[in-house]
Amino acid sequence: MLIFDEITKKGHEQVVFCHDEASGLRAIIAIHDTTLGPALGGTRFYPYEDDEAALIDVLRLSRGMTYKSAASGLNLGGGKAVIIGNPKKLKSEQLFRAYGRFVQGLAGRYITAEDVGTTVRDMEWVRHETDFVTGISRALGGSGDPSPMTALGVFEGMRAALAFRTGKESVDGVRVSVQGVGAVGRHLVDLLVHGGAQVVICDIDQQNLKMVTTKHPEILVVEPDDIYDAAVDVYAPCAMGATLNPGTIGRLKASVVAGSANNQLALEDRDGAALAERDILYSPDYVINAGGLINVANELEGYNDVRARQQVKGIHDIILDIFKLARSEGRLPYKAANTLALRRIEGIGRIKNHWCGVQTQKRGCDRVI
Ligand code: NAD
Repeated sequence: MLIFDEITKKGHEQVVFCHDEASGLRAIIAIHDTTLGPALGGTRFYPYEDDEAALIDVLRLSRGMTYKSAASGLNLGGGKAVIIGNPKKLKSEQLFRAYGRFVQGLAGRYITAEDVGTTVRDMEWVRHETDFVTGISRALGGSGDPSPMTALGVFEGMRAALAFRTGKESVDGVRVSVQGVGAVGRHLVDLLVHGGAQVVICDIDQQNLKMVTTKHPEILVVEPDDIYDAAVDVYAPCAMGATLNPGTIGRLKASVVAGSANNQLALEDRDGAALAERDILYSPDYVINAGGLINVANELEGYNDVRARQQVKGIHDIILDIFKLARSEGRLPYKAANTLALRRIEGIGRIKNHWCGVQTQKRGCDRVI
């Protein structure tokens, strides 16, 4: 692999390889774009097949964060990190603190958080060595579990999609299927039931199902594979990715897709077009599930639950803007989301050329004398 070709291909600014022999740390931090602000993104701990797979993943994920932050209206750039190895065998205080020192060395260009394979406790170790970490527990002044905020963002995005599709944004009487009632799905179910929706759920985990049906006995449960055939208005994928594919799209009865799962379209172009052909309105996953990111980003200014909730509710209008742009420019919604993100980066990047005149570190005005 030609490393510089790989890094420059998609416009990454900086890639840092970190090694600490004593703790066994081998990590890669990728900063994709810092036009809007410091690059925020989680640290994934994963036993990659080889170093090349780890590099490809961190480049892909960090670029995704640039789009996600930009489309969500955050003053943040895109970054991500991967720690290579089996988290079950390698995790230690020493390793995370070593990692924290590398993050600190980037002087705030990269801000980390949890991701697959890392937890709040791990980030608290990282925090011993760096100021540039989020995803800390509420007890320590952080934002805590992001799932309720992710669910709130999905709920608001769903209401926007319903408003765009039907002219009525209340979920009262609307039939919604929720695939996966884990951390996000179960909070989404609470909001839907509270709003008067008729909810159908499925999960492969019986305990998670029981937790929801005990609280909401009126809810209908179907077998995992039957969820695609359910007679509903909205399909909310909140489990794994790639559930929108040639095997499922033709079966959907819903006219709106609005859920938290990442990478819902198995193949973006093919499956995005297939949904449009069936006149199913697709809410771009990385925007509708940005509530957790918005919540964590709030830690940077001192976490405030009321402000965070307010910002997460803003996903409603962002989703609506994406649909309007998609309609006016004849684009598929996920492409319109990318366009919205790129236009914001270009637009804000341009105003940053104006000389501010005073020394300031304020966001959006970061040219310092
Ligand atoms: P989770 O692991 O807590 O819940 C996922 C649930 O889906 C589990 O109950 C699991 O048993 C179930 N599931 C797995 N395979 C299934 C299948 N084939 N059919 C039905 N159910 C199945 O995860 P989560 O934190 O709730 O996240 C859900 C999705 O949302 C994931 O794709 C995640 O990447 C995405 N997401 C989560 C957050 C967050 O704040 N947690 C933020 C952004 C995106």
